[in-house]
Amino acid sequence: MKKLVIATHNAGKLKEFQTLLAPLGYEVTSSGALGLPEPAETAPDFAGNARIKALAAAKASGLPALGDDSGLSVSALNGQPGIYSSRYAGDDYPGAFAKIIAAAEAKNDWEAWFTCALCLAQPDGSTGTYIGEATGRIAPAPRGGAGFGYDPIFIPNGYEQSYAELGTEKDKISHRARAFEQVAAVLADTTTNQP
Ligand code: IMP
Repeated sequence: MKKLVIATHNAGKLKEFQTLLAPLGYEVTSSGALGLPEPAETAPDFAGNARIKALAAAKASGLPALGDDSGLSVSALNGQPGIYSSRYAGDDYPGAFAKIIAAAEAKNDWEAWFTCALCLAQPDGSTGTYIGEATGRIAPAPRGGAGFGYDPIFIPNGYEQSYAELGTEKDKISHRARAFEQVAAVLADTTTNQP
């Protein structure tokens, strides 16, 4: 079986990748499970940080690795927290939801979008990077119990439910699913497995 390391310590992301990768016949592990350190995310954008994570995991494990850098951008916060989404919430997601909803209310601007950059890196250092985006709006109050992170306050365009209410339906339409569609075509190429 082909092996792939998901370069993450985030259990929510790992679960989504396991669902997305299931049809492709990969044995999946993660940098968290392998005990690899988390590299510093020093790039100024999602793509750069995804590349840092993927390359670190591929080099340390000797296996192909998929890095994900993602986040929520809020129009009322001038596009923040974006690449700082994890740090913006810290351990207090309810607090972050309240700040975002208050900002959207104050400006009466509920527009928001999720971005996901995926980087597939090989142990030899070659990489390919893919971007997915999902636009939508901030929910006036957190809703739903599925998913992770900001899922309870994001309603994707075309839906009335939040990501956290959509459950596995999220895996068909999310920013991560859209980026993953592009990587899946590369991963399905069993002859080279190269970006
Ligand atoms: P990263 O691990 O540095 O890429 O941080 C990504 C952060 O963005 C996560 O910890 C979440 O706070 C947020 N995030 C990214 N993707 C999602 C998602 O699909 N749902 C909810 N929050 C997300």
